[in-house]
Amino acid sequence: MLTQTDIKIKQDFVQQYKNGYPLLSREIFTNFSKEIKEGTILKLFDGKDNCIAKGYYGLQNKGFGWVLSYKKDEEIDIDFFSHKIKTALECRKDFFADIKTTAFRVFNGEGDGVGGVTIDYFDGFYLFTWYSLGIYELKDEILEAFKRSVDYKGIYQKKRFDGKGKYLDDKDDFLFGQKAPEPLIIKENDVKFAIYLDDGAMVGLFLDQREVRKTIRDKYTKDKTLLNTFSYTGAFSVFGAVGGAKKTTSVDLAKRSISKTSEHFSINNIDPKEQNIIVEDVFNYFKYAVRKKMLFDMVVVDPPSFARSKKHTFSANKDYVKLLKEVIQITNRGGVIVASTNSANFSMMRFHDFISTAFKELKGKYQVLESFSLPKDFKVLKQFPEGNYLKVVFVKKIR
Ligand code: SAH
Repeated sequence: MLTQTDIKIKQDFVQQYKNGYPLLSREIFTNFSKEIKEGTILKLFDGKDNCIAKGYYGLQNKGFGWVLSYKKDEEIDIDFFSHKIKTALECRKDFFADIKTTAFRVFNGEGDGVGGVTIDYFDGFYLFTWYSLGIYELKDEILEAFKRSVDYKGIYQKKRFDGKGKYLDDKDDFLFGQKAPEPLIIKENDVKFAIYLDDGAMVGLFLDQREVRKTIRDKYTKDKTLLNTFSYTGAFSVFGAVGGAKKTTSVDLAKRSISKTSEHFSINNIDPKEQNIIVEDVFNYFKYAVRKKMLFDMVVVDPPSFARSKKHTFSANKDYVKLLKEVIQITNRGGVIVASTNSANFSMMRFHDFISTAFKELKGKYQVLESFSLPKDFKVLKQFPEGNYLKVVFVKKIR
């Protein structure tokens, strides 16, 4: 049995939970005792002693935990989680049936009814990511529910408890079943990727960009030059090359990006020697490219929300316009910029403002061609649209 406690919330906040808002925050409670430990099930009461929801206490960068149920008599137990997991898998049955793609998200936190945990599928293997100590305290119930409901080859986990989702390396990423091959080769729209489930914080591929990668390959890169900045393992470059790009250039600060990107080219029968893979601070590369008067037909820019390198601190919120201005200068007229951000701190509208400001300040002209947010497997609650953090806009530079 999980620890449970009754707790009162301020009258001003009652209605939002009745409407299905899922996130808990400090300010909603009249009094939150220091004795309450992360992972405790909170039974939320209004001023008239009516139970309006059940949630759990778990500190994340945003929030204080999540609502789990709006039914006052619903027990939070293995059956509860099992039902959520089965429903989530059922929602992804088209993904399981698609033989061209063998990696996708099967459980997206609050979008699937349990905030603070995600589950990704990699060709028979499942990866759990826990975003707070609180949700991790519920892991025995959740994992047991999963094992009862799902056939799996193996189960892995990542712990990202601290406020900013920083990875906690306790050398216990592998949990149950078989170990996955290193690398595990998965497919995304028939393009292969090498996944390392037990090699640090990230596995080698961000699944939320699937539709963007496909679009780049299918509509934009034939006979074009492609610059991929903040390239990580080169996923956009690989799709570009498969789409027939004349040449791709990938730039990332991390040394590992050379071997990882080369591997991704190789397993797709593309000779990495014919592509450019550069380890450098993107901001230095821009200076170099401007000096050399380099121009690209397509530039992908997908920075982290926040990053600190030796010389630069970058915050998407504050510095995106500046970043875009650099990118615009090395994009051909008629070329396309893929501007991307996973920052939950601003909206799609604000992101469009950034693009508009950047072009305006350079006296340029542009046209928005298309835009993307999270794909269907990254389920978002309509009561919590902030959960849809991904914003990607394809912008044609007119001048
Ligand atoms: N676009 C990638 C994901 C980017 S993850 C993809 O779709 O797969 C962010 C990457 O930015 C990391 O690989 C990190 O090493 C890199 N990075 C952070 N700051 C950087 C900088 N100043 N210059 C170059 N790369 C940077």
